[in-house]
Amino acid sequence: MIQTDIIIIGAGPVGLFTVFEAGLMKLRCHLIDAIPQAGGQLSEIYPKKPIYDIPGFPSILAGELVDNLLKQAAPFNPGFTLGERAETIEKHKDGSFVVTTSEGTQHQAPTVMIAGGLGSFEPRKPKIETLAQFEKKGVEYMVREPEAFVGKKLFVSGGGDSALDWAIYFAENHDIPVGLVHRTDMFRGHKDSVEKVYALQAQGKIDLYTHAEVVDLHGTDKLEQIELKQKDQDNIKVNVDYWLPLFGLSPKLGPIGDWGLEIEKNAIVVDNSLDYQTNLPGVFAIGDVNTYPGKLKLILCGFHEATLAVQTAYKIIHPDKRFTMKYTTVQGIQGFE
Ligand SMILES: Cc1cc2nc3c(=O)[nH]c(=O)nc-3n(C[C@H](O)[C@H](O)[C@H](O)COP(=O)(O)OP(=O)(O)OC[C@H]3O[C@@H](n4cnc5c(N)ncnc54)[C@H](O)[C@@H]3O)c2cc1C
Repeated sequence: MIQTDIIIIGAGPVGLFTVFEAGLMKLRCHLIDAIPQAGGQLSEIYPKKPIYDIPGFPSILAGELVDNLLKQAAPFNPGFTLGERAETIEKHKDGSFVVTTSEGTQHQAPTVMIAGGLGSFEPRKPKIETLAQFEKKGVEYMVREPEAFVGKKLFVSGGGDSALDWAIYFAENHDIPVGLVHRTDMFRGHKDSVEKVYALQAQGKIDLYTHAEVVDLHGTDKLEQIELKQKDQDNIKVNVDYWLPLFGLSPKLGPIGDWGLEIEKNAIVVDNSLDYQTNLPGVFAIGDVNTYPGKLKLILCGFHEATLAVQTAYKIIHPDKRFTMKYTTVQGIQGFE
């Protein structure tokens, strides 16, 4: 059981900034995110886009903002459970909450901040009848630990950045060629990545199949073959250890919607007159995931909400102490070991 002061669900910009604000109050945080990296929408959807409305930064790339937020949170040594979705919340008799993930990891704390944005990113799944039979038995929708695929025969499907980046990574880091399958010969990924894919194909490190798609899966206990349909050709079966359909991720509020929270239009209703607490005392919702009159889904609004929410969290965690806010210019940053 991971013990902390604040369990933060969602390692997007708002969850990351919460670590900093909580740290100033000497509160420890542990973040849970369904995707294997921090940054939420900024990392997943638009890492290379410039953002122009972060105070003090006339322009900053989304990916750079995430790097900066991680750096700003680092002195407060947050814990991370990444690549696992928060599934259930339970309130114990002592008032603490236990949040359990899809992989069974348990976290306990007196307070919970839901910074879940538009929800957890769920993989877009291809429509193949036998798909469910081979999930986690050869079919993987995310690359959590690339080392797990060393020496394995891999096929990646998709035409976006994620599919291209991983195909390139495996081609460059493994001895066995990696297969890449895409419906057309027009890729949505970066031009540089597309050029690299063709260069690696020429070197025999990527087996590229365009105008093709995986239409069936075969195997007994685990995936053994994928069946490829190619334009104007007969279907072929290819031996594989893993197939990675990387068709992007779409956000869904998911299990948080069943936690007894008041929900309005797919967002969690909070009290914005004070501290962004939900109808469950001790559980807060901040950033894109919440709603209240006048709500704006902007990063800077989420930062403000996080700052106020941790003030009440402090009172719940230390009911007999008083915290006097001091400017960072006065108190500096005192991190944790
Ligand atoms: C293309 C685009 C451009 C944008 N441009 C701007 C801009 O210029 N300025 C601006 O201010 N805003 C912009 N936004 C909006 C901005 O990205 C959001 O306001 C911001 O990402 C919200 O941050 P967040 O931390 O609340 O949520 P998110 O960034 O959505 O992060 C939430 C995280 O929570 C995780 N999560 C959710 N549920 C669970 C669960 N059950 N278990 C585990 N993890 C979970 C998700 O996986 C995700 O990583 C833009 C958005 C898009 C899509």
